[in-house]
Amino acid sequence: VLYNQVQDLKGTIRVYCRVRPFLPGQSNGQSTVDYIGENGNIMVTNPFKQGKDARKMFLFNKVFAPNVSQEQIYVDTQPLVRSVLDGFNVCIFAYGQTGSGKTYTMSGPDLTAEETWGVNYRALHIRNTAQANGLNVPDASLIPVTSTEDVIELMRIGQKNRAVGATALNERSSRSHSVLTVHVLGRELVTGSILKGCLHLVDLAGSERVDKSEAVGERLKEAQHINRSLSALGDVISALAQKSAHIPYRNSKLTQVLQDSLGGHAKTLMFVHINPEHNAIGETISTLKFAERVS
Ligand code: ADP
Ligand code: MG
Repeated sequence: VLYNQVQDLKGTIRVYCRVRPFLPGQSNGQSTVDYIGENGNIMVTNPFKQGKDARKMFLFNKVFAPNVSQEQIYVDTQPLVRSVLDGFNVCIFAYGQTGSGKTYTMSGPDLTAEETWGVNYRALHIRNTAQANGLNVPDASLIPVTSTEDVIELMRIGQKNRAVGATALNERSSRSHSVLTVHVLGRELVTGSILKGCLHLVDLAGSERVDKSEAVGERLKEAQHINRSLSALGDVISALAQKSAHIPYRNSKLTQVLQDSLGGHAKTLMFVHINPEHNAIGETISTLKFAERVS
């Protein structure tokens, strides 16, 4: 029975929506999200529109309200992460506009406080006792690790490399994708057979559309490149969700790098992030539409 359940999940795309709380100093109570249902529905209202058109309902696998803890998020993510140990390839993405909580979900706000750890650290922690572990940073180096501490140290180094300077961190991370890939080799204790699984943890670049009148030169090119790679990712996942015969992997570097772990013998989870502030409504609607298209 268990085997069948695992088979059934193969190739499926899950979409979780997470609504960020208001941050200190932000106008509390002025949320664009006015309803979150138990069954994965979410209703948003456009405060700048009148009448029926102002309200929109979306349906996902799960919707997490602003007060949901990092631990609870992981409870709903762990089964997917564990299936890597059964030889599956798994991709977990964080999508959303800059400031919506992508890095909070994937890494967390404070490495020194374990209860705030995001998916990345929790996922690597459960593998504390696994042997023959390896970490592969695409286009960089394959470094053997033997403990959670080794992995966390490597992730620190990765973060440092991603950020040239502290003030540039947000700027950099909103304009680049961060992909952490973990290859896992396991030996079945009873039969001795070898299982290979692979986990990609992806903190995507900010999905916001850049105003063409404001961005010029390199900045505009970069923004267009990001928008193109995110829509190429959307195209791939949506083609997979619809079980299309042709999956357009080759349209971006991102989807090429992740090709073996998207579709086929693989599982995908997309976290989409919502900033509940009024002035984010445009990006909120386009984020929800993107998510609807891939689910
Ligand atoms: P992004 O990576 O999408 O640009 P961040 O993860 O950096 O956004 O989040 C922006 C700010 O909001 C940060 O200060 C972060 O700590 C805070 N934040 C995001 N999500 C949450 C949450 N679920 N609970 C509390 N604070 C959050
Ligand atoms: Mg970020």
